Amino acid sequence: MTPEEVVERYSRVISRASHVTYVPIVPYRAENALVWDIEGRKYIDFLADAAVQNVGHNNPRVVEAVKKTADRLLHFTFIYGFPVEPLLLAEKLREIAPIDEAKVALGLSGSDANDGAIKFARAYTGRRSIIGYLRSYYGSTYGAMSVTGLDFEVRAKVGQLSDVHFIPFPNCYRCPFGKEPGKCRMECVSFMKEKFEGEVHAEGTAALIAEAIQGDAGMVVPPENYFKKVKRILDEHGILLVVDEVQSGLGRTGKWFAIEHFGVEPDIITLAKPLGGGLPISAIVGRKEIMDSLPPLGHAFTMSGNPVASAAALAVIEEIEEKNLLKRAEILGERAKKKLRRMKKKHELIGDVRGLGLMLGVDLVKDRETKERAYDEAKKVVWRAYELGLIVAFLQGNVLRIEPPLTIEEEVLDEGLDKLEEAIEDVEEGRVPDEVIEKVQGW
Ligand code: PMP
Repeated sequence: MTPEEVVERYSRVISRASHVTYVPIVPYRAENALVWDIEGRKYIDFLADAAVQNVGHNNPRVVEAVKKTADRLLHFTFIYGFPVEPLLLAEKLREIAPIDEAKVALGLSGSDANDGAIKFARAYTGRRSIIGYLRSYYGSTYGAMSVTGLDFEVRAKVGQLSDVHFIPFPNCYRCPFGKEPGKCRMECVSFMKEKFEGEVHAEGTAALIAEAIQGDAGMVVPPENYFKKVKRILDEHGILLVVDEVQSGLGRTGKWFAIEHFGVEPDIITLAKPLGGGLPISAIVGRKEIMDSLPPLGHAFTMSGNPVASAAALAVIEEIEEKNLLKRAEILGERAKKKLRRMKKKHELIGDVRGLGLMLGVDLVKDRETKERAYDEAKKVVWRAYELGLIVAFLQGNVLRIEPPLTIEEEVLDEGLDKLEEAIEDVEEGRVPDEVIEKVQGW
């Protein structure tokens, strides 16, 4: 099959609701930060497969763990038995999570983990309301979709959970309150306080669900003291802090969990994406009294705790530990940020470079003064990068997403950044035709 044929056949049988198109890459084989398509073309993967491959595509330790476990036990549901692998994984998660004596519930995706977190928060507090953030993404199942503040089109068609409220996330580049960094009074915090004094009944609120660093919102890093101030307000009212680490967790930002940069202890953490190193597995890690607030089967799936996926997850965590990938993410992140900031000096299209570790965003703008989002240009950059052999995407229509594996070699990282700069330059110089805008869908 040619890539064109595959893409055409996709459109015939795969629901458009379960897919989004950036570039027509048809992967065949992958290794660390490199992917080869079915025609043998090589690409550098700056997305780490949507932040899944923190330890690199087809990491040998993960592949070995999968093969060995699959050979003897593909599955035995932990609803009716006690396979060892999910137990070892839960013990390990408890060891690395910044929550004392946590307990763990396992699932299959980031979406179901966030659904579970909402259930646990509601059951434990006996309250209904959940606060989410505008522009956030928590997933595609009913609960996760309902608290997602990114796109309201789907829920307008299908309905949603009740008792959900939204507040703006602190975005110092595009401040929702029109303020400048360093010259504000943390209106993002007072907004929340006022919300609890007005529209939202604090004593009826179960949880705030937050990404410590907003991923799909465009890699938005809050000010250092933001979560401390928020936690104080939550504690005053007995409201739980649920931190979605689905994208930012397991070393991506230079720490096991991104919330650790902000000095607060969450009540619940959700994890997925990189956890299984490419196999579907998720985890909710929370204070034990919260995690015991639902009855048996209150949050369970036949396939949760699958031994193969659990063994893969254990291998991912061991790999991060043994290769010291937290430090590596920090060092490579600084290296990439430095280069990107140098690029910003040369290229007007770049309005902002931000992020922590290897969770980076490059905000493309039409005008640095107005910060108007450069939607068409972002599509052209992504397309041109693909032609040059680099897989990259945009978020919110204009923020380039840079999240390579934490194991990417320095030379490959540099080569990818050079390709990215070439793509940006080609767009700025008008060398990328307008017709590619139609080809890239994105979101
Ligand atoms: N939370 C965050 C922060 C995410 O980035 C995502 C996926 N983009 C999800 C939840 C949903 O995870 P999944 O696609 O595994 O359901």
